[in-house]
Amino acid sequence: HDAVTLEVQVTLFGDDERLIVIRDVTRLHRLELMRRDFVANVSHELRTPLTVLAGYLETWLDHRDALPERLVRGLTQMETQTDRMQRLVSDLLTLSRLETADRHDSTRPFSITALCRQAIADGEALADDSHHFRLELDDDRWLRGDEQELSSALSNLIYNAVRYTPEASTVTLRYRRSPNGDGALEVSDDGDGIEPHHLDRLTERFYRVDKSRSVASGGTGLGLAIVKHVLLRHDARLEIESTPGQGALFRCVLPAARLMAAPAAEAAIDQ
Ligand code: ADP
Repeated sequence: HDAVTLEVQVTLFGDDERLIVIRDVTRLHRLELMRRDFVANVSHELRTPLTVLAGYLETWLDHRDALPERLVRGLTQMETQTDRMQRLVSDLLTLSRLETADRHDSTRPFSITALCRQAIADGEALADDSHHFRLELDDDRWLRGDEQELSSALSNLIYNAVRYTPEASTVTLRYRRSPNGDGALEVSDDGDGIEPHHLDRLTERFYRVDKSRSVASGGTGLGLAIVKHVLLRHDARLEIESTPGQGALFRCVLPAARLMAAPAAEAAIDQ
């Protein structure tokens, strides 16, 4: 009586022959659901103890002047690692929420221009003058979807462009319309780029080109997995291009069906 999950693959031969392969993937599907549940539960359970640890560490470090130097060094290390665990748990929870939630059918549109302006302002605040930012808006569209989710996806891409490039690099955010009507939201940089054999795996959880660099710059290894899932929920996809030595480009391809012209001024105020 339990639900069964089947995978059907149809291959066409010539005009009238077909090869149909049906696979029973029920067990695999169940295991995947158990994995998701387990990760979500563990992450959830870790939140409270980490909050307590962080609270005590903060209180002790507030009185650092009264403590021996060696102890302060130890406590500072503990605070850094607790911080890192909290970010990890928070990203894991975000990811499991995105994986289990349905596709986004929200019909509330928002302005892509405003989204991009905000993302650049946040990037500038984060980079603290270490990078140059460029905004290129070749079209003014509104998008049906979850503004907060897309804003966090864009921030992740901009955050990466800042973290994986040397100081004084330029980060460009561009929105343009493709000839087929889809929208392309692109974050590019002029840093060292990524070797081609890594590109297909970058959106896997915890896949990093250089783990120590990712950890040192505050990464959890989950940023691009989160971006991919946010886009999937919007029927959109992520394309990554890079020429090593010349930078990387992350393109969010937004389907034409979710885009619309900017509403008239009075209607926009209602949104
Ligand atoms: P992390 O927390 O490690 O940054 P992400 O999922 O955001 O995790 O990114 C995965 C990996 O992709 C990073 O560890 C880094 O090696 C690579 N990467 C992401 N963005 C860039 C970029 N703009 N330039 C070069 N490498 C990048």
